[in-house]
Amino acid sequence: MSVYAKPVEVLIDELGRLPGIGPKSAQRIAFHLLKSDTVDARRLADAIVSMKDNVSFCHRCFNVAEGDSCTICNDPQRNQHLLCVVEEPKDISAIEKTGAFSGLYHVLLGAINPLEGIGPDQLKIKELALRVAGEDIEEVILCTNPNLEGETTAAFVASKVLAPFDVKVSRLASGLPVGGDLEYADELTLGRALEGRNTVDS
Ligand code: ZN
Repeated sequence: MSVYAKPVEVLIDELGRLPGIGPKSAQRIAFHLLKSDTVDARRLADAIVSMKDNVSFCHRCFNVAEGDSCTICNDPQRNQHLLCVVEEPKDISAIEKTGAFSGLYHVLLGAINPLEGIGPDQLKIKELALRVAGEDIEEVILCTNPNLEGETTAAFVASKVLAPFDVKVSRLASGLPVGGDLEYADELTLGRALEGRNTVDS
């Protein structure tokens, strides 16, 4: 049974499909938008459409990019021999804020999570192997999250993907809050974990 007008139901359904938005939040946001000025609601709609039209993923590292490649890949000052592997583009901004890293990135666009049906093939792991094979990379730093999925992913990448290559593989030092996301670590702790990274035997 439909309680609200159809367009409201449609919006609640769409909002409820977003990560972290349950049915109650979806309803609250929909009614907030219903009450707000048309110009404000349109600005939100336009921002979504503009992002989808103009921004995609960097063809090399899968960071967000306006055009084919991202600002980091386009910057010749970055250390081209150092590669930091992260789960999501938002992890790049967390690491950039520490100022402790000047190399390149590779975004996997997720982590291995068998419960959600995410295996290595759903991630940008093959693309990582191609980069290590084709670029002049000396060290790969595994900066996946310090939780079960992140550790599983780091172990898989080190033992199954990078082992055949002649590259140093390292993992963030301990000291990060276990079970959490990189984005919740403070800059100082994350910067220290990067600088004190441990070599992984692959
Ligand atoms: Zn890039």
